[in-house]
Amino acid sequence: MADIQKQLNAFTEIAQNPAKQLDKYVDAGKRVIGVAPYYTPEELVDAAGAVPFGVWGMQGPADEARQYFAPFYCSICQMSLEMGLNHTLDKLSGLMCSALCDTLKGFTQNWKAGNGERIPLIFVSQPQNRFSPAGLKYTVDSYKEVKEKVQECCGAIIDDDALFDSIRLYNKWRKAMRKFISLAGQRPTVVSVPQRSDVIEASYFMPKAEHLAMLKDLNEALEAVDPDMGDFSPVVLSGIYENIPDILRMLQENRISVVADDLAKESRTFAMEVSEEGDPITALAAGFCGMGNDSILYDPKKNHIHHVVDLAKENGAKGVIILLAQFCDPEEFDAPFITSACEDAGIPCVTIGIDQSTETYEQARTQFESFKDLLK
Ligand code: SF4
Repeated sequence: MADIQKQLNAFTEIAQNPAKQLDKYVDAGKRVIGVAPYYTPEELVDAAGAVPFGVWGMQGPADEARQYFAPFYCSICQMSLEMGLNHTLDKLSGLMCSALCDTLKGFTQNWKAGNGERIPLIFVSQPQNRFSPAGLKYTVDSYKEVKEKVQECCGAIIDDDALFDSIRLYNKWRKAMRKFISLAGQRPTVVSVPQRSDVIEASYFMPKAEHLAMLKDLNEALEAVDPDMGDFSPVVLSGIYENIPDILRMLQENRISVVADDLAKESRTFAMEVSEEGDPITALAAGFCGMGNDSILYDPKKNHIHHVVDLAKENGAKGVIILLAQFCDPEEFDAPFITSACEDAGIPCVTIGIDQSTETYEQARTQFESFKDLLK
């Protein structure tokens, strides 16, 4: 058990020190490319020999970004722009970003205006209509342009063999992440909620090959420990992200175990499957087009709603917590439907607003405490 805690500490050290990680790779002569939300073909960066580096905002107040965004834009976009404007990200050789929601569309343009000369934008255009051959073709054409831009930013040529190596690596990594989510959720007495989050967060600040090596060892060690829920209540988290220190602490204090999640920064990302055959760009495009169960992606039948209820049922969750990112239109649209579907299924559900610029979460504390009583 002491060995597992040592392994978890290694993930925490990385997750809590992104600037140190960035310096490490730049000092080693690597190009580092920022990767902002959502579902961008990060494998291209890996295949170019560069390091993909997650840019999902940070905790704190938006200051300079307020010159570009009104306060009613989500904090991921505000704080990611802030990090560019305040020079936190100056060592990046580019920033890859999609425009899957309206706020991201504005973000990409604001990024170009405020940071584009120092940190070029690698714009990833993806269609909302992913199911038709035209949607796939659009994505393939777009990813070809993205490949050119990644090559330019990384000063490297991406060949098909290298890209397939990266695709295989990412498939293995996503599979290992899915396994970790399940192992950790069933062992809350060993892996705390903040530690679970750190294991995931660390993957955003290091090459996937390095993260996968650490993760495989951790999964192996966790598998050797019998599942034990102790006095923890199993829940499903839904939303975009959960790594707000106060929120993680409150989940842990209320003895909540995350047995599964529907978070864009976590399991929605690990759900993608990419073919390891044929043309690699087409495989990446088809991987994106095959995604679903997501508030951010066009979902005419609202399968996302039922997916959250199914996740809870399949994993024996006693409740669902929606962590609603403030000013996030796609999530605000789905949240009431998820609440209603959970009610119909007899699953307690609570919605807790989160934001990277919020200073106190006292109201959330009361919500967690009341919700915990419903889980008994
Ligand atoms: S999906 Fe929501 S949280 Fe994510 S960038 Fe768009 S508005 Fe912001």
